[in-house]
Amino acid sequence: MIPKTAGTVLSESQVRAFQKCNQLYAFGGDVKYNLNASIFKSTIEMMIVDALKKPINNPKLSFPKYLQRSMVKHKVHEDLLFGQIQDMMSTMSYRLTDFWDVFKADNFIPVIGPRHFRTIVSKTPIDVYVSCVFMQKQNKTLNILDFTPHSSEHAQVNDVMLYIKMKAIEAFQRKDKRITPVKIHSVGLTEGDVFLYRSFTYKNLQQELLERTTKLVKGIEIGMDMPSLPCKFYSCPYRSMCNPEV
Ligand code: SF4
Repeated sequence: MIPKTAGTVLSESQVRAFQKCNQLYAFGGDVKYNLNASIFKSTIEMMIVDALKKPINNPKLSFPKYLQRSMVKHKVHEDLLFGQIQDMMSTMSYRLTDFWDVFKADNFIPVIGPRHFRTIVSKTPIDVYVSCVFMQKQNKTLNILDFTPHSSEHAQVNDVMLYIKMKAIEAFQRKDKRITPVKIHSVGLTEGDVFLYRSFTYKNLQQELLERTTKLVKGIEIGMDMPSLPCKFYSCPYRSMCNPEV
């Protein structure tokens, strides 16, 4: 049977949309990073891009200039008031410190900066975005840094992209036996800007998640449709289409 995805490459955003709600996927919707999570992500990615050229010895001292750059990129000075910008800078400073407490510069060497990889799940190619692949100096493991757009721990640990990204990077491992299988670090922010962090290996990724990932992609391939029930996802832009009475 020819899958409905034949000839197309799915993006990670489309896969996440389907996981959230297949109507959302059908409408062309996606799962977005909120503003703070976007700024947090791009600040760290800017630092990684520079660290690939020249090591940043003390990231905790260096991040203010990258944070400023990231805020300019996201046009916060046009959209927010002075007090809101000050609050944002203060919150982000705490969260960036949390991040660099986990990813101590002495322990990791960045290998590849932000870029896309392609992998195949079931019969469908999927493009995934990886913020950084780095090597842990001590045990030579390849590690993936991934920013989750989800704002709850439950959604973070059940994100099918964890498995798909590990699969994509595994193909890039050298045949060198000293490099052990990949590990993925998922970081993000909750709605209240609490730092979310979990790490996973193939071993501790739930078996159920691995099976669910393949099942989900197969669901996209057959164009699986589910009846849309009255939905309480108030911020969804397609709500009026699923709930005509709203
Ligand atoms: S309103 Fe609900 S059911 Fe409709 S697309 Fe959005 S999340 Fe899905």
